[in-house]
Amino acid sequence: MRNVAIIGSGPAGYTAAIYVARAGLRPVLFTSAVEVGGELMNTTDVENFPGFPEGILGPDLMQKFQDQAVRFGTELVFDDVESLELKGEVKKIHTAYSGDYEALAVILATGSAYRHLGVPGEDRLSGRGISWCATCDGAFFREQHIAVIGGGDSAMEEALFLTRFADRVTIIHRSENFRASQIMLERARANEKIEWLPNARVLEYLGDTNLTGLKLENAVTGEVFEREFTGTFVAIGHDPRTDLFKDQIELAESGVVKVDGRSSRTSLPGVFAAGDVIDDHYRQAITAAGSGTVAALDVEAYLGTLSPELLAQAAADSAAEADAQVGEDAQAAADAPVLSQPTVAEEAASISLNPIGFNTPLFGGK
Ligand SMILES: Cc1cc2nc3c(=O)[nH]c(=O)nc-3n(C[C@H](O)[C@H](O)[C@H](O)COP(=O)(O)OP(=O)(O)OC[C@H]3O[C@@H](n4cnc5c(N)ncnc54)[C@H](O)[C@@H]3O)c2cc1C
Repeated sequence: MRNVAIIGSGPAGYTAAIYVARAGLRPVLFTSAVEVGGELMNTTDVENFPGFPEGILGPDLMQKFQDQAVRFGTELVFDDVESLELKGEVKKIHTAYSGDYEALAVILATGSAYRHLGVPGEDRLSGRGISWCATCDGAFFREQHIAVIGGGDSAMEEALFLTRFADRVTIIHRSENFRASQIMLERARANEKIEWLPNARVLEYLGDTNLTGLKLENAVTGEVFEREFTGTFVAIGHDPRTDLFKDQIELAESGVVKVDGRSSRTSLPGVFAAGDVIDDHYRQAITAAGSGTVAALDVEAYLGTLSPELLAQAAADSAAEADAQVGEDAQAAADAPVLSQPTVAEEAASISLNPIGFNTPLFGGK
């Protein structure tokens, strides 16, 4: 049994891990099998994370988060959590391939997924002209012609924000009825940099290495046409990733995990949540990281309320696990063959399995 289990390897999960590990609680962190590092793995330059005046690539930033968490004794499990039993004093975590774990406290840091249009070109050009976050990427599109896709308040907000940088912003919506509130529509209509393209469905993103435009269809006449854009912001909503636990803890109306005031405490004792999964508004790396800190401090306070017997058991199990790991590492080093230079195919395989290149093997369940 562990003291603390953290689910999610984005800024919230890793920051919580850094704090919990530095408090000597040796957390176990489930990274997910293929999405190690969270949303910032999908972007290139991050220019608004403090401490990097020249900016930093999203994957490089997440590698630093991971290195810092590991440095203080976080145990990483490169696997998906498939199900959770969150009621009761001892929480149970079931993974896809690495067995079952128990912990006294759980931090849910599973993030939130921006909705995608799901049309051709989206994966290829994501981060290469297609973005989901004007606050994050708007400044890269100075003096350009940008499309914003969506008809709700967030599409209006994104479009208005982008007029600070872009020469022209075209709002593309599949119908002529906008869901946005009257006040947001009026603000957008009053902005002379914004033009409107209603009744238009996006069929495809155009461009080989960078976005050059959109293939569109007139939803009324069926006419297919193309428009040039060097940037497109998709603003059709986002879904907090709560499938794993939404039947066990309370959610807010907007779908995010409900927490108690400014804390990370959920409706179940011993279960804490941090990052975009509790945030339906700010959704930035730095706010997620701050929220991870809150969760770590709340967990430390919570553990102090548990019985000494439970704490002693978790401490003993964690120490045994740490010793076993040291033994496994030493054995693996002794057994390791002299490695030949990896082939390009081997390197590619290791990158796809473990996108930020941390070479810890999967841990077995405990
Ligand atoms: C394209 C793009 C560009 C962005 N650019 C910026 C920027 O420049 N600056 C900025 O501040 N913000 C930016 N953001 C926003 C920022 O990435 C998020 O606000 C931040 O990553 C949220 O952190 P998080 O830890 O809450 O969640 P995430 O980063 O989403 O991480 C959640 C993690 O949980 C894991 N997970 C989910 N379910 C499971 C499970 N069942 N088992 C195991 N693991 C699981 C996921 O795989 C993921 O690793 C950008 C977002 C996008 C999409």
